[in-house]
Amino acid sequence: MQEIDKIYFRKKITSVLDALKKKKFTAHFFETPAEAKRFLLEQIKPGETVGIGGSVTLRETLQIVQEIRKKGNTVYDHWEADNDPQLRIELKRRHRGVDVFLSSANAIAADGTLVNLDGGGNRVASLCSGPKRVIVVAGANKLVDSVDEAIRRTRNRAAVQRVLRSQYKTPCEVTGVCSDCHSPQRICAALLILMQKPADIDEFAVVLVNEEMGY
Ligand code: SF4
Repeated sequence: MQEIDKIYFRKKITSVLDALKKKKFTAHFFETPAEAKRFLLEQIKPGETVGIGGSVTLRETLQIVQEIRKKGNTVYDHWEADNDPQLRIELKRRHRGVDVFLSSANAIAADGTLVNLDGGGNRVASLCSGPKRVIVVAGANKLVDSVDEAIRRTRNRAAVQRVLRSQYKTPCEVTGVCSDCHSPQRICAALLILMQKPADIDEFAVVLVNEEMGY
C-alpha cells in the first residue's frame, strides 16, 4: 500500500473502530501484519481448538497456521485436504465446534457491517454460530464506504479474484466480470451480512491492519 493510502486509513480508523464497537464486536487496529499476527497468537490460549476459514490473508500474508500449531493447539484447516473431498468436508464440519474460529472478511463497511460470501457455506456458518470465539482479520483494502459497496466488492471483485486464483471454469474466469452464472464450479452461494455480533458467539473480534492483505 502507498504511504498516502495508509495516512488516509489512519484518519478513518477511529470512526470505523467506534462503528464496530457499536455493533458489539471488539475492535482492534494494527499498523503491520506482524503486529496483528502477534496479537492473534496471544489470543489463542493453550488447549483451545482452532478452525481456519477460507482466507488468503490468514494463510499467505500472516502464515498463521504453522505458528498456531507450534504453540501446541489443534488446528482444523480444510485447505490442507484439497485432494481429499471427504476429509475436507469433515474438517469444515469441525469448525462449528471449535473454541476459536479465524477468518478474514470480503468487505467491511464504514458502519461496521461485515460481508462474506461462500460457496460451501462453512465459513459463513461458522461466523454466525458454533465457535465460542471468532476473530476476523482484514487489511485496509477491505474497507468500503457503505453496505451496498461491501456487497458489490464481495460479489464483483473478491469472488472473481478467488475464481481467477483457482482457475475455475466459470464465465468470470474468462471475462473478469460476475454474470451470476449457473456453472457447475460456481463459488458463490451464501452471502452473509453481519449487522452486529451474533448472539451465539461469545466474543467476536475484528482486527484491522493498515496494509493490503488478501483480495
Ligand atoms: S456467480 Fe459465477 S460468474 Fe459470478 S463471481 Fe460467482 S462464479 Fe463468477
